[in-house]
Amino acid sequence: MDIDEIRSDTPGCASVAHLNNAGAALPPRPVIDAVTEHFALESTIGGYEAADRNAAAVQHFYDAVAGLIGAHADEIAYVENATRAWDMAFYAIPFTNGDRILTTTSEYSSNAIAYQQMAATKGVSVEVVPDEPNGTISLDALEAELVKGGVRLVSLNHIPTHNGLVHPVAEVGRLCREHGVLYLLDACQSVGQLTVDVNDIGCDLLSATGRKFLRGPRGTGFLYVRRGVVRTLEPPFLDLQAATWNAPDGFEMRQDAVRFETWERYVAGQIGLGVAADYASALGMPAIEKRVLGLARTLREALAVRPGVTVLDKGVRPSGIVTFTVDGHEPFAIKAAAREHGVNVNVTSPISHGYDPHVVPSAVRASVHYYNTENEIDRLLSVLPGTA
Ligand SMILES: *Cc1c(COP(=O)(O)O)cnc(C)c1O
Repeated sequence: MDIDEIRSDTPGCASVAHLNNAGAALPPRPVIDAVTEHFALESTIGGYEAADRNAAAVQHFYDAVAGLIGAHADEIAYVENATRAWDMAFYAIPFTNGDRILTTTSEYSSNAIAYQQMAATKGVSVEVVPDEPNGTISLDALEAELVKGGVRLVSLNHIPTHNGLVHPVAEVGRLCREHGVLYLLDACQSVGQLTVDVNDIGCDLLSATGRKFLRGPRGTGFLYVRRGVVRTLEPPFLDLQAATWNAPDGFEMRQDAVRFETWERYVAGQIGLGVAADYASALGMPAIEKRVLGLARTLREALAVRPGVTVLDKGVRPSGIVTFTVDGHEPFAIKAAAREHGVNVNVTSPISHGYDPHVVPSAVRASVHYYNTENEIDRLLSVLPGTA
């Protein structure tokens, strides 16, 4: 990887040390150009006319995202964010009273709220599978629950938003297949950070966002729906993109993942997200993953030896998301002070992960990407309190 070239292709690198990639990463020049040029074209010749002219780029989004995650283009839906992508899948599952949903302690709160709504309206039971002591989902406990029967869905995240762990998602996939159970994966923090291959993982449904490690525009996301399950799922909303109206009183849903889309969309964002997926594929996910994990290790090691700093990461295979506290200093104050010095980090709070028994009140979250440097990590260390 030519880091200098990558950084000169990322205008934001000139103004900030951006260690908030789990929030929203800095987009590379080709993504910026694709989005701004399409919006400029819309303002010049008209929105419909611009979509016609750039139809190939709009369509290319499906191939680009499918290529990145080992899917087929007809298994990809463009959705405005990961939450809606996940919702369209989750609320399409024909749950009945007594169905069991198995999830993890690290589950994201938006997903947990949806489980609770489904429990209240359809009488499903939501069961949080215990962790290994390191914080990842216990595969033995998961298997024991699957053996009991009645499980309609296994639903978890690949990388939680608030700690450094990576769940053993392929092992979970193997268990789901053995027991014939539907598997929904929230891959918001992993797509663009780690190699994510839907066939290796064995998930049936996967949601992701554009703005995080994929380096795409905000307000974009996608849903992967395995060919074999699409016909068993009825999205909660259908429009004239998702279905055909056999007027006056019939309709037919699309037979591919487009049944989860709506017609109106952020077209420039769709083009930009396709470009972002291409950009990641061109650099190569194995190289990206290696660089992210290497920088995160450097950061963890530096924090670990620092007096007063506690690194809070869980798991056996740490990701690019590093959370920590500094004795006697509020995370929000640390974040604000860092920002004043041109260093971006974020704060994670228990509001986003209410099941987690390991949770701390709040913590600083520094998340590295491949375009970051050791120098930027040093800049963060130099603006942490306690350095005089
Ligand atoms: C950010 C995040 C989401 C939500 O993504 P949006 O694009 O904001 O909808 C879901 N799950 C996890 C684990 C996340 O980190």
